[in-house]
Amino acid sequence: MFSYLTHLECTACGALHAATELQTLCRECGKVLYARYDLAAARASMTKEALRDRPFTLWRYHEVLPVQDPACAVTLGEGGTPLMPLARFGESIGLPGLLAKDEGGNPTGSFKARGMALAVSRAKELGARAVAAPSAGNAASAMSAYAARAGLPAYVFMPQDTPWIMKAECTAYGAHVYLVDGLINDAGKIVRENSVARGWFDVSTLKEPYRQEGKKTMGYEIAEQLGWELPDAIIYPTGGGTGIVGMWKAFAEMEAMGLIGAKRPKMICVQSAGCAPIVGAFERGDRHAPLFAGAQTLAPGLRVPVAIGDYLILDALRESGGTALTVTDAEMLAETRVVAAAEGLYASPEAAATFVAARKLAASGFLKGDERVIVFSTGAGMKHTELIDLDLPILDPHDPRVGDKIV
Ligand SMILES: *Cc1c(COP(=O)(O)O)cnc(C)c1O
Ligand SMILES: [Zn+2]
Repeated sequence: MFSYLTHLECTACGALHAATELQTLCRECGKVLYARYDLAAARASMTKEALRDRPFTLWRYHEVLPVQDPACAVTLGEGGTPLMPLARFGESIGLPGLLAKDEGGNPTGSFKARGMALAVSRAKELGARAVAAPSAGNAASAMSAYAARAGLPAYVFMPQDTPWIMKAECTAYGAHVYLVDGLINDAGKIVRENSVARGWFDVSTLKEPYRQEGKKTMGYEIAEQLGWELPDAIIYPTGGGTGIVGMWKAFAEMEAMGLIGAKRPKMICVQSAGCAPIVGAFERGDRHAPLFAGAQTLAPGLRVPVAIGDYLILDALRESGGTALTVTDAEMLAETRVVAAAEGLYASPEAAATFVAARKLAASGFLKGDERVIVFSTGAGMKHTELIDLDLPILDPHDPRVGDKIV
């Protein structure tokens, strides 16, 4: 069997839903649905030995992914990203064991590819005729690419000041692109109000059950890359929280399948000081995070003022003994260049937020020098070149003294 998916279960009220038809949120209470699998059976097929012979893409974990028919897997080669030591940068901040999971090499340049590969595959498999999503940028480009690959029309709604490259990507992929005078939640309102009438399937973060299934593969990959051990801490740049929530789910599944033990990493959420709903709720001891008013940050993936999965994110932070903190846009910009120059890893601002967080948490003593810490470098710096200040000398090749100008 390709997939051991059995049903969907509400994360809040426990209501069961059929996985054989398109589903969005829980029909009883409106909260997030999780895909559930026959893990005992999956365990017999997805053994450590069996995995050794499979290609290093996220589809290697197909037993615990929802796609039923391998022919329905819509793929551009997502997943299978490197886990790289950041020895020079790590040493400089007192964390010599620092590792980066570099997601920038995914199709469309961010880890959104993982989630959209699964969401679009399942939408197609279950008969959706078109997909739609609000997005801060990267989700839109990933959805547009996978929808094109699947032959489905895509409708994209994003803030009007989303980085130019992400608007251009969606346009190139043939999506119907609309700019919204507002933020991702405002764009979400437009999708919600139009989806049913227009026959779009809404693939908003955590509002359908399969994007998190794609993102959870990051949890499987890091375990496998570390020889089926988990790190001491994971620092994750949190917007809608699909990645944190997905990895936390993956760890429980892996333990149930006997692939790992009970040890869990401290899950650490980093957000921008200009948009930090989860950090605020964590500090107040709340399980829900109200809309963060006046959200503003140059990291598009962190410009998410309200998250439907707030309780799932906050539960993971607390159960793991993790924490939540903010960093400023200026800190992200500076750290981008520090890490690019020290390590050859040119990352997006969201990723840079995790580097700043590692520095801060090492300085405060929350993270110890002998700990193995993974920072999630969720997107490629190449999408944000406009943020690098350039003041480059221009040389005259006919100037006999041109060499004097080179320092
Ligand atoms: C979307 C995005 C995030 C936030 O991811 P969530 O899993 O939704 O919290 C972080 N970084 C980048 C580059 C993103 O595109
Ligand atoms: Zn429910």
